Amino acid sequence: MPELPEVEVTRRSFAQAIEGATVTRVALGKALRWPLGLAPDSLVGGRVGAVTRRGKYLWLPVSAPVAEGGLLLHLGMSGSLAFSAAPQSTPSAPGPHDHFDLYTDRGLLRLNDPRRFGAVVWSPAFDQPPAAKLLAGLGLEPFDPRFTGEYLRAGLSGRRVAVKSALLAGDIVVGAGNIYACESLFLAGIDPRLAASKVSRPRAERLAQAVRGVLAQALEAGGTTLRDFKDAHGVAGSFQMQASVYGREGLPCLRCDTPVRRIVQGQRSTFFCPKCQKK
Ligand code: ZN
Repeated sequence: MPELPEVEVTRRSFAQAIEGATVTRVALGKALRWPLGLAPDSLVGGRVGAVTRRGKYLWLPVSAPVAEGGLLLHLGMSGSLAFSAAPQSTPSAPGPHDHFDLYTDRGLLRLNDPRRFGAVVWSPAFDQPPAAKLLAGLGLEPFDPRFTGEYLRAGLSGRRVAVKSALLAGDIVVGAGNIYACESLFLAGIDPRLAASKVSRPRAERLAQAVRGVLAQALEAGGTTLRDFKDAHGVAGSFQMQASVYGREGLPCLRCDTPVRRIVQGQRSTFFCPKCQKK
């Protein structure tokens, strides 16, 4: 599943190229998770603004003669966005898994999504429904200066679940998906099974730093290669190569040589070092 770093890498790969472009045609494939919410033709003639990201959503502003607002995009489980600057006089025909095509005078932005849990939803503004409703309940961005150890500790304190599950919920901080939650807890030396409410202040500080560090590293590496992630230019990421525990069950811990363990928490695999990570 595309995680926050992959979504951000995708955004960076086409945001500049598409900003200021004019929409020339919109083509829809099979139904995605939610309907578009306006007639596709209403976007024609619209000018594309600066693409931003919130959590795993991308916001693509469009200012059209008959519609002012933007498209909120989500890659779901298996979605990927590709921007091809090919001349639009020779558009490539959509394949069986291409379900949203935004043709512009600068190139084609195409959403490929075999499992169709992704979405493209029109909203009159980023802070109005339906966008505001879909984004409600998201935690802080990991690089938001307000995301501190103290904030994390306060967020975890009232929870009865394990610290890893609390991170995964995404309502304290976004971005700590399964891979990054495992890696962050390893870096912070915290057992993923520890009750969220028992995370001390100094450990919350280390964990907040670890979350930021791991996500920054993933961004720098171009996202993970898990599940064939590619950015909008078809370049595969490389974060998987650097994972300390994720996907390494039975292999020696990079720090202490103890075999990495895999357990299941909330139906998701958790990888951790039973020696380096303490309750
Ligand atoms: Zn270890």
